[in-house]
Amino acid sequence: MTLVLPGDRIASIEEYEAGRDTFDDGDAVRSLVVGSRDIDPSNRVANIERSKKIGVPDPGDIIVGTVAAVMSVMFAVTIQYVNGKRTKSSVECICSTRNIRKKNVTLVNDVVELRIVSHLNGTIHAAMDDPSLGVILTRCVKCGGSVVPVRDIIKCIECSWIDERKLSRKFGKPDFPVLG
Ligand SMILES: [Zn+2]
Repeated sequence: MTLVLPGDRIASIEEYEAGRDTFDDGDAVRSLVVGSRDIDPSNRVANIERSKKIGVPDPGDIIVGTVAAVMSVMFAVTIQYVNGKRTKSSVECICSTRNIRKKNVTLVNDVVELRIVSHLNGTIHAAMDDPSLGVILTRCVKCGGSVVPVRDIIKCIECSWIDERKLSRKFGKPDFPVLG
């Protein structure tokens, strides 16, 4: 893919209409943004596919990451996978826990699966409002031992401590390689 810059000519207006992220200067269709050419010959429209910031997820994307901080009504996650693809850019998102009634929704260093809901004021917001979303790996808060789910709670197999998390249906069965 050749990168085009704002103002670059991408097609002739005799052949193509100006589509997404382009403009027509009376002679040519030109790009408004940094991206790549996306020509639709059947509809005779010339578009630009915007270059994405690598590793930055869009609303609707499913991410997996490690909990970096837990605050009273939200937690922050360092994103490691976007739609199943590893990212090394260390982008963070936050997830509100306001509507989740659990003793510990999640703990620092837990691995969680979330859905991105929005970008707001430079912050990426995520949610865990689906049975497939939530904590997929965690450990006992008392002894650091392994835990097993018992109905909707978790129990430490080392010290028998009983605790709560907002568990994902995938708890203990992550569908990705162990995170480094
Ligand atoms: Zn324990």
